[in-house]
Amino acid sequence: MKQVAILGSTGSIGCNTLRVIEAFKTEFGVAALGAGSQVELLAEQVEQFRPRVVSVSDDASADKLRYELKARNVVALPEIFTGIEGLSEVATVEGAEIVIGAVVGALGLVPTYRALELGRRVALANKETLVVAGELMTKTAERSGAELLPVDSEHNALHQCLRGETRHELKRLILTASGGPFRNASKQEIEQATPAQALNHPTWRMGAKITIDSATLMNKGLEVIEAHWLFQCSADEIDIIVHPQSVVHSMIELIDGSIIAQLGVTDMRHAIQYALTYPERRNSLLPQLDLASLSKLEFFPPDPEKFPCLKLAYRALRAGGTMPAVLNAANEVAVAAFLNEKIKFGDIPRLIQSACDAHELRPAADLETVLNADQWARNWVGHLINDAGQAVATGS
Ligand code: MG
Repeated sequence: MKQVAILGSTGSIGCNTLRVIEAFKTEFGVAALGAGSQVELLAEQVEQFRPRVVSVSDDASADKLRYELKARNVVALPEIFTGIEGLSEVATVEGAEIVIGAVVGALGLVPTYRALELGRRVALANKETLVVAGELMTKTAERSGAELLPVDSEHNALHQCLRGETRHELKRLILTASGGPFRNASKQEIEQATPAQALNHPTWRMGAKITIDSATLMNKGLEVIEAHWLFQCSADEIDIIVHPQSVVHSMIELIDGSIIAQLGVTDMRHAIQYALTYPERRNSLLPQLDLASLSKLEFFPPDPEKFPCLKLAYRALRAGGTMPAVLNAANEVAVAAFLNEKIKFGDIPRLIQSACDAHELRPAADLETVLNADQWARNWVGHLINDAGQAVATGS
């Protein structure tokens, strides 16, 4: 039986992973679960899957978890860790062959790195890890022999399309984008969009951060950088096409003009199952894609004028070094401020651009350098938001 460790077990990908494991319970077991502060849900997961190690955000959550587990009469308590070190304990738990990387944001960086160092298969949903430190992650995986398998639906699709193809016969990657909730909105409407409007994604149900990224199209920008590292393609070899139905999860074009696409239902359990059982396949748990019921599949070019985050992401990828880390950190801070109604939707790309313009580029030589760049960008954008807030408060 293969043991699995999950970083981010109470999030959308984490919960779906546990549903897949439950369906294949003779094949997979749960060695460790890492969560934040959703302790009740974590307690439920611990009761059902009996991991040896768990991690929560802080001591208060750890106490609450002990209380919840006692209330559920769980006798054999798991070892409970906290914080980022706790997530690293989950990623490196003894006996786990597969680590699911599904925490949100740059928080996943260090634990994912530790799992790759140990040569473990990492099924990665946390694209920020590759955006921030793609070179380090891929080099570490190469050194240790770790497999890095994408759970992000587009990259999972590309991984499937590329099976059996050789790199020199590949012309380009074509990432599909749903276009988000503002595909048909005007520039003015997008500028003033509220969190409630931005959180209303047309085709996928996901966490808040990635849903906002899908509305700004930064999610697609981050995915371009993620694809660069996963498949060794340059910025010029990665294109985006808007496909509102989200049925084609992505495509590759080969040098002879052939385009190969992967189609499927919009349910992340497919990509998770693929990453768990690769290179084998298993019968699906999901309803079949009913081709005859699809009235149409549409494709449009993306509009970088309406969605400037796309341009910013390509620019950061071309700049290389610490720039993608700055792009990502600036975005994380801006999105959180937007969700807290501190800034307008239209401020998100402006803040990111400001950070990228001001950043002194460095080679992303080690984890410390990229973490410093990440912290610098968080401070930069945080100050801009606070200063703007003060200007509003004082009427200046
Ligand atoms: Mg995706």
